[in-house]
Amino acid sequence: MKRYSTLIPLALAFLMACGDPSTSTDSSTPEMTEETESESSSRTTYTSVRLKTDMSLLNEEEKQVIPYLIRAAQFMDSVFWLQSYGDPETLLSGLSEADVDFARINYGPWDRLDDNAPFMEGVGSKALGAEFYPKDMTQEEFEAWDEPNKKSLYTLIRRADGGELVSVPYHIAYARQTDGAAAMLDSAASLTTDDALKNYLQLRAEALRSDDFMDSDRAWLDMKENHLDIIIGPIENYEDKLFGYKAAHEAYVLVKDMEWSARLDRYVQFLPDLQAGIPVDDVYKQDEPGRDAQLNAYDVIYYAGDCNAGSKTIAVNLPNDEELQVEKGTRRSQLKNAMKAKYDRILIPIADELITEEQRESISFEAFFGNTMFHEVAHGLGVKNTINGRGTVREALKAQHSALEEGKADILGLYMVTRLIEDGQWTEASLEEHYVTFLASIFRSVRFGASSAHGKANMLRFNYFQEKGAFTRDEKTGRYRVDMEKMAEAMNGLTAKILMLQGDGDLAGTETLMQEMGSIQETLAADLARLEEAGIPVDVVFEQGTQVLGL
Ligand code: ZN
Repeated sequence: MKRYSTLIPLALAFLMACGDPSTSTDSSTPEMTEETESESSSRTTYTSVRLKTDMSLLNEEEKQVIPYLIRAAQFMDSVFWLQSYGDPETLLSGLSEADVDFARINYGPWDRLDDNAPFMEGVGSKALGAEFYPKDMTQEEFEAWDEPNKKSLYTLIRRADGGELVSVPYHIAYARQTDGAAAMLDSAASLTTDDALKNYLQLRAEALRSDDFMDSDRAWLDMKENHLDIIIGPIENYEDKLFGYKAAHEAYVLVKDMEWSARLDRYVQFLPDLQAGIPVDDVYKQDEPGRDAQLNAYDVIYYAGDCNAGSKTIAVNLPNDEELQVEKGTRRSQLKNAMKAKYDRILIPIADELITEEQRESISFEAFFGNTMFHEVAHGLGVKNTINGRGTVREALKAQHSALEEGKADILGLYMVTRLIEDGQWTEASLEEHYVTFLASIFRSVRFGASSAHGKANMLRFNYFQEKGAFTRDEKTGRYRVDMEKMAEAMNGLTAKILMLQGDGDLAGTETLMQEMGSIQETLAADLARLEEAGIPVDVVFEQGTQVLGL
């Protein structure tokens, strides 16, 4: 029997009456069509979006380069399958069409947005270390193993013929794919007349062949005027849930939105002034805000691997290497067309269901874009080090750090936008649009579950706002209304609370706050169930590639 969400008892009853659908592959009869529909609605629901950009802004040379970048990205998709599950053919052959689609979204037989619950019979649960480590390796064996490269981001752990552990560099373990991708990047480099892009592509090809990414990361940060871009390689370590040591392969092929990027660039200069104005005691804002952040907007034209699995990333802050961050800063990339897709397909329908009629017109894409963007920038504000000698905030708050830091970025992002609107520096959307859209976004984010850092941060904020009267819920309609004044007060209150917990390195206080405010109450759970019943998708899946682009 497959696993079904308890939120949809009707679908479950229907399936039980019909027997196990997985044993049948016949989809031609009307009964089976119905069964397939109710079956897919019991899993995390995705909506399909065509990933496009304004092709009239690209010249002939760029149109020739793009297919090579996409082919390079596709190799990352193959590597990520191996890291997440193994050979996809062994899984996909013999599955029904719906199961194949769902397995492709998840890169394996586990539902990523349902805590990796298996959605097929007989596959068991997903290994915490995915395919980065041997399945029979214990944590103790790994810890006791004397091998300098075992914790490297870029090695795979395997067993040699004699049974002992060995550490295999990615460029050897995945040589066919990484060499293939490198060759595509070299071809793209030979076609482009943009010298900075050419240099980066060549260095990145070398990096894929050697697993030494520093020079190419530097070249990437130095590249400022390029119209095309590709983020490619082993980058984030979320897929390794055993230790978090191993990076997973992914790629984004990007077209920079030159006009928006120029507009965003100016906000970095306001950071010191914004830091000074945060409504909290001076000792909690003594750190210098990071000024060396670049802020750009892009259309993504291809997602591959890790970033394409389950929930789709809409903003990226890279590189991850902390030494390099200190040396050269970071680039915060806003993926505008993907944001727009989530806004249109998910946020608007959520607002229709849960936001009071009178405030519905205050939902706007400009506000959604602004809130997401300032969230990224706000990670640079506040305190990085505790004020009482407890070390960095990250060290002091341990496992609680990510959720609180995400909560900080959300609330300080809203604070930034409030200040910039007051000062006449941000005119894309009104304050009411930002606040109402912010509330609707909380509903979108809590659907990812309270087990993720972002989900928990959103729950905390929702409960705090509710307690402070920042919004009210109409009993009759079940819809929510923002109280502008109380929302601003609650925003300031929560900002101070979070920054003090961080600055004091108050682990016990953070745990208490999360316990009291980090979970979903009954009324909200019922409201979220309404979204599910209305068939509102949780995330998007992309139709993408040269054909979709018309190349
Ligand atoms: Zn964040």
